[in-house]
This record gives sequence, C-alpha cells and structure tokens, in this order.
Amino acid sequence: MRYLVLTDVHANLEALDSCLADARARGFDRSLVLGDIVGYATNPNEVIERVQALEPAAIVRGNHDKVACGIEQADGFNVVARSAAVWTLTALTPEHLEWLRALPRGPIIVDDLIEICHGSPFDEDAYISDDLEAIRALKSSQRPLCLFGHTHHAVTFELARGADSATLSARHDMQIPLLDGFKYLVNPGSVGQPRDGDARAAYAIVDSDRRLVELFRLDYAIEETQAKILKVGLPEVLAQRLGVGR
Ligand code: ZN
Repeated sequence: MRYLVLTDVHANLEALDSCLADARARGFDRSLVLGDIVGYATNPNEVIERVQALEPAAIVRGNHDKVACGIEQADGFNVVARSAAVWTLTALTPEHLEWLRALPRGPIIVDDLIEICHGSPFDEDAYISDDLEAIRALKSSQRPLCLFGHTHHAVTFELARGADSATLSARHDMQIPLLDGFKYLVNPGSVGQPRDGDARAAYAIVDSDRRLVELFRLDYAIEETQAKILKVGLPEVLAQRLGVGR
C-alpha cells in the first residue's frame, strides 16, 4: 500500500494542489491526513473539499481545526493565529464546520506498521521539537512508524527498539528505509506553511510494502496564496512568512 501523507495544509489551496498533482503522478493508493487542515490561509472550504474527495484511510484533527470550528477557545494562540481562526470560523460553510467538529482526536492506528497523530501520540497538542519529547513519543507510540505534524518542520527521529535513549538520532534525509528493530517518528513537514527554512510545500509517501518513507518538497504559486491573504485583510506576516518558510 502506498499512503500519501499530508499535514498542516492550513487552507493553502495552491500548496495542496501542487502536492496532490505531484503525488498523483508518482502514484498512491490511500491517504493519511494529520490535522491542521484549516487556519492561516484563505481557502478552508476548498481545502476541506479536496481532503474529503481523498476519502482518507485515517485523519485526525489539529489544534487549528478545533479552534476554527469553535470546539476549543483560542487561549494558547498568539494575536496572528487568533485573527486567522476568527476569519476562518466566519468563512467556513455550516457543513464544513460540522465536518471539522467531527474529526477524531489522535493518535489513530492505521495498520500493523503505521500510527498517526497531530502533535504527539501522548498528547494531540504537544510539540515534538527536541530529543526528550521525541523519546517520549517513540516510547508511547504503538507502531514501528508514527507520523506526526504540528511543528511544521520536516524531521525523522529513529530509535533502536528497546535500546538506550542515547541512541536516538534526528535526521533530515528525504528517503527513510524502515529497518526491523527500529522505531521511527516522521514529520513530513507542512504542506501549507513550512517553518523549517524551506518555503516549498512538503508532503510524504509511505510505501508499506517496500517499507520506505519518501519526503518531497515542491514549488507552488506562493505569490498567489500571499495575494489572497492580503486581499482578505489577514495579518501581513502570514503572507510574508510563506515566502521565507519560517
Ligand atoms: Zn499547524
């Protein structure tokens, strides 16, 4: 089975369409969506329709999905994220609001190989941004491969099963062969708002038969997304950051 993996699309239609076209050319069977489908950019309804059309094998909600559909308050959000959430709440159709409200909490077990979550397998909203959190996530994950998002940084953490935590390694390879006896924690990077210094859209394909994860980065019409953000009056910084990938 070849799984297309999408996370942190954040209503960026141009980035999503670029990833979908590339993934279709490479070929995939099913899709896995790791949350934060909306928030920040201006096409939440269109992006939800694209995701619905994929009929994902598994999908989890992200923190922005929860706030944008009103099931959680924007308490932890900064001013910019909050204004994007408020804008998104008013832009979403009633049907799409309902759809977002019904999204399940992670983690979700997909098959014998894969588990997915938004932030981490121990807390859907936790950020895995250092070795300690990565070790905690790897130890609580129930499958050899745990896919996560939330940080908008593409990264792979690898740990030998049952080994000392000191053997943890963080890698930035674009191809990750899944070896027996190891556990993997992979963030493909954000489709719609990369923050790892590479402005290109990010996604992954997991081939469960070949036991291989492939990460991809793609150019897309950033100027178009930026122009839409400015046009609806969202904070300028949301347009600027797309250009630098931060
Ligand atoms: Zn996000």
